[in-house]
Amino acid sequence: MTIQVEIVTPSRQLFSGEVEMITMPGVEGEMGVLGGHAPLLTTLNIGEIALHRADGEDEYIAVSGGVVEVRPDKVVVLARSAERAEEIDISRAEAAMERAEEALRTRPDEERRPVEVAYRRSQLRLKVARRRRSTRPGVFVEDEG
Ligand code: ATP
Repeated sequence: MTIQVEIVTPSRQLFSGEVEMITMPGVEGEMGVLGGHAPLLTTLNIGEIALHRADGEDEYIAVSGGVVEVRPDKVVVLARSAERAEEIDISRAEAAMERAEEALRTRPDEERRPVEVAYRRSQLRLKVARRRRSTRPGVFVEDEG
């Protein structure tokens, strides 16, 4: 049994399709959802969504918070922002990380919270970008773990 998944951001529909399983960064921890799941509404952390497709391929998405509605036949993710592994601009994420590191060194404590969250988004994007599939068969992208 598969489950229909829709992932939308404020600017676009990122994914729409049937999958075997979706795993998501729920606020109370990693959650895996299969078809027939009990209904639930929860919020998402900054983390990785993995889509396990019926053809055996996995797809990885960086999600920076949002809400998810689970129904037995469908999962709808309304993401604050989200990118497929293949779409992530690594230089942009590195620049965001460096800006955040600099701000964490110089800003007073009461201004650090949003910077820490931006830092986590940059780290997540760099991690998920390493999941991207090679466009050439037989060539693998090095995974630093
Ligand atoms: P930055 O400081 O680089 O803007 P951010 O974490 O503040 O990063 P968000 O507010 O989460 O960015 O996202 C704003 C928009 O930019 C969203 O559409 C998001 O998908 C996109 N985006 C942010 N960083 C990247 C990236 N490294 N690669 C591709 N898209 C990105």
